[in-house]
Amino acid sequence: MIREPIAMIVCADLANQVRGKGIPAAALAGRGRHGVGWVPTNHLITCFNTIPEGPYGSLGDLRLVPDLATEVRVDLDDGRPPEHFVLGDLRTLAGDPWVCCPRSALAAALRDLEDEAGLRIRAAFEHEFWCEPEAEGPWSGFSLAGYRRNASFGETLLAALTAAGVEPESFLPEYGRDQYEVTIAPARGLRAADESVIVCELTRAVASRLGRRVSFSPVVNDDVGNGLHLHLSLTDRDGVPCTYDADAPAQLHPEAGAFFAGVRDHLPEYLALTASSALSYDRLVPHKWSAAWNNLAVRDREASLRICPLAATPGADPAEQMNVEFRAADATGNPYLQLAAIARAGLAGIRAGAATPTPTEGDLGLLDPAALADLGVERLPTSLAAALHRLEASEAVSRWFPRELIDVFLVHKRGELAVVAGKERDEVRALYTGVY
Ligand code: GLU
Ligand code: MG
Repeated sequence: MIREPIAMIVCADLANQVRGKGIPAAALAGRGRHGVGWVPTNHLITCFNTIPEGPYGSLGDLRLVPDLATEVRVDLDDGRPPEHFVLGDLRTLAGDPWVCCPRSALAAALRDLEDEAGLRIRAAFEHEFWCEPEAEGPWSGFSLAGYRRNASFGETLLAALTAAGVEPESFLPEYGRDQYEVTIAPARGLRAADESVIVCELTRAVASRLGRRVSFSPVVNDDVGNGLHLHLSLTDRDGVPCTYDADAPAQLHPEAGAFFAGVRDHLPEYLALTASSALSYDRLVPHKWSAAWNNLAVRDREASLRICPLAATPGADPAEQMNVEFRAADATGNPYLQLAAIARAGLAGIRAGAATPTPTEGDLGLLDPAALADLGVERLPTSLAAALHRLEASEAVSRWFPRELIDVFLVHKRGELAVVAGKERDEVRALYTGVY
């Protein structure tokens, strides 16, 4: 059969669904550079493919303009077309960033952080996901048997990532039944968020070619959630790490301490941007090794901000390794908005000259709200509706992002909530498992 190779120009939208249009691959570097037509209302398409009543209706036109540096072309050598896509920005017809473009919002946040504080973010998005097993049988967390159930999937995935220019660090069977995790090397700023999209899409691509179902939904079964953990560190403009200070509280350089104080303090206000589905809040509960309070703690997997361990082996440089893991996120959030909110909150902490938060210790579930308040900590919003309410009311967030972006996000997410309202837990889980 004759074939014309196609490249998809795509963007991750407010539902963190990756949508776009295909063009002949040969045209990408030429006319493809100017992008394809896009429609504002597309931003309102929920993960369930409904469109809540919003401000744009049938009106308006945008361009989805590819950033050719993000091009992914991976031939999986299975006789089917390669995975060929390019990530893009949403622009007005005049070529300016559209106010609701998540990728442009991140670029702006990173620019401000660098201009004002001289800092850059280095990040690795670490994804957990559920993968339909090749064979049935009992599950044993982290076991070789668990790995073996999806060994060919894992090998193909790592090869696909490498071919896409993303550096895989590990593939592992996680604790939850049929749960796996893939970790990658950190990357700078915008590229880190691009890689989050690339990792999820290549995982889905490999699964679909192997006839296997995968899901990044935050809760697939009763075991544990699928987390998205963002490993964050700061560098100066030259890429020199500046997160670590051996003598400072929590071994965080005071400026990094101020950054993470802002990230912590504002978290309840922007949580809806990092954990963006109704189901996200079934994961963000105590004793699930996710995040239930806006606390910073040392090597504690129940903290929203976990100071990661430093290897003390000879030659291991603590400044290079030092990173803080943000755990109150999942793959239903848009990675650009996740990192943009973190960058904005961190910059707010730096502007305020905030002190490094005192790391919490022990089970915060044993403390009452007053004791938590003494620690500067609060229980995170416990539902998407509550998180949206905090987002809507936040003065800080309305300074960080264009109001239109937040308003459209609220309409979109409330439309998503309307779809799951009144449904049984199992049905809601099945719906999200299917779309993420
Ligand atoms: N599955 C846990 C989560 O929902 C994380 C487990 C881990 O620390 O890797 O975030
Ligand atoms: Mg894990």
